[in-house]
This record gives sequence, C-alpha cells and structure tokens, in this order.
Amino acid sequence: MGMEVLRSPKMVREALFPQLMRGRSVGLVPTMGALHNGHMALVRDSVMENDLTVASIFVNPAQFGPGEDLDNYPRDTDSDLSKLREAGVDILFMPSASEMYDQGFSTFVDVGPITAKLCGAFRPTHFRGVATVVTKLFNIVSPARAYFGQKDYQQVLVIRKIARELNMPVDVVGCPTIRESDGIAMSSRNAYLSEAQRSAAPVLYRALSAAAEALKGGDTSPQGARVMMEDMIKAESLIDEVQYIGCYDPDTLDWLEEFSGGALLAGAIKIGRTRLIDNVLVVS
Ligand code: AMP
Repeated sequence: MGMEVLRSPKMVREALFPQLMRGRSVGLVPTMGALHNGHMALVRDSVMENDLTVASIFVNPAQFGPGEDLDNYPRDTDSDLSKLREAGVDILFMPSASEMYDQGFSTFVDVGPITAKLCGAFRPTHFRGVATVVTKLFNIVSPARAYFGQKDYQQVLVIRKIARELNMPVDVVGCPTIRESDGIAMSSRNAYLSEAQRSAAPVLYRALSAAAEALKGGDTSPQGARVMMEDMIKAESLIDEVQYIGCYDPDTLDWLEEFSGGALLAGAIKIGRTRLIDNVLVVS
C-alpha cells in the first residue's frame, strides 16, 4: 500500500481507527519538513518498531516567536514526500495552520519551569508551542511510540514530562543525533548558512566534544569546561553570539556544580541570523 497524504485530524483518525481496533501499533514521527538524514533515522526506527508509521510535516506557528524564521522556514515538499514514501511511511499528516489552530484557539499546554531553561530563556513561548502541538498530534494519532531526536534534548525532556504527567499511553523514544562528516548536527536550518558560515559552524560540536572528553578524563570541572567551550567558540570570528553554553544536570537542566559521571553539555549560538543548537550527553 502506498503512502496516504492526509490534511485533517478527522481524516487521520478515520484512517487509523480500524488499525488501532485490530491492535496494530502506530509510530509517530513529528517534523517540520525539509527532511534530512536526521529525520529519516527517526522514520526508519519507527517503521522497524511499529506496524504502521505516521509522519507529520507541520511548521507550527505556535512554537515560533516574533522575529523568528517562521515565514522563511525551509520547505521542500516534493522531496519530503518521496523520501517518506521510499522509507515506508503509511500516512503523512500535513495539515494547514488553520486546520490545527482554528479561530479563537486558546488552549495551551504549560509544562512549567523546565521550559524556561536553556533554549527557553531565549525563546520564551517556544516550548509551550511544542508541548501544545505534540499533545494535539498524540491525541490525533494515538501512537504507541513517538520518535524525537536527542539533538533537541530539552524538547525530549519536555515531551517525556507531558506524556508522564498527563497519563498519555505513549512511549517517547529519543534517537541519537545524526551528524555531517565534519561533526555538525544535521538541521533544516543549516541551509540558511553561507559557505563561510557553514565552515565555521562545526566549532560548536568541536567545543562540546572537547569539553566532554576533558570532563570525563577528570581534567576539568563543569565550570572549567564551560570556559573552555566559550573560548573555543569565541575564537571563531564568524560566530556572532553565544546564547548559552555549559554543563547541565541531564534531568533538571540546572547548572552542574560538580561532575559525578553524568552531564549534559549543551549550547546555542547565532551565526548571522541563524540560530544553531547542539549537545553532547556524558553518561555515568
Ligand atoms: P524538526 O523538523 O527540526 O522539528 O525536527 C523533527 C524531529 O527530528 C525532532 O524530533 C528533531 O529532534 C529531529 N531531528 C532534527 N535534526 C536531527 C538530527 N540531526 N539527528 C536526529 N534527529 C534530528
């Protein structure tokens, strides 16, 4: 059977209902499109682990702040469709903004203080938008498993918290970050970078990896690691801003005072108008 492209929540529910009734497991892969190998790794895991896979492409206005890149977010629908079809996706859900947020929409999912940390400090309404759209997608699709990339580490924490605290019967699966050969995390936003900016961008991952090694080897403290990362990034003249960089507690996202085996090294930088994030998890 080929891939169905459905544009309304009702159509998705009607298509899935008989399958769910028969006990088939559904895997969900939410995306904003402009698909790359990072997205496709999530799709492959879902296709392997579930009877049916639903992917979604929705550039969610609720997770963009004023002045962010909602209007120029990269789109490549034809190529996305053929990649998803080839990967064995059963249903692609591709709603319009008005289909997801009708006039007067006012119900938002607020996950609390964790959404104000790291990226949330610079994008104050971002995780509220993510939490709301993912809750909607879970309600529309009823997935057994939903797949998210560890590249957006904070997002995975936020979504796990929603599923646990709101009793959603879904297994939130975090998948490893897929990288280009120079280490940079694949991202739809990498397409915004000029050639010179693109060759400067891998410094973020280089800094995170070097600090992770130093921390694991006992050569530095979390504070020392932060300084080391900041110095490495600031030495690259094309990096315009370091929004945050540091060692954090992998569960609470608070500053790590002392390293005892586990740490999240994470950062967000701006190159021109392009904002890039990345992280490396050190596990005990
Ligand atoms: P996006 O389209 O950027 O909203 O991403 C959709 C999903 O793909 C999210 O769960 C992301 O975390 C995940 N993702 C994006 N880039 C990567 C990557 N380089 N490696 C693994 N997962 C990724």
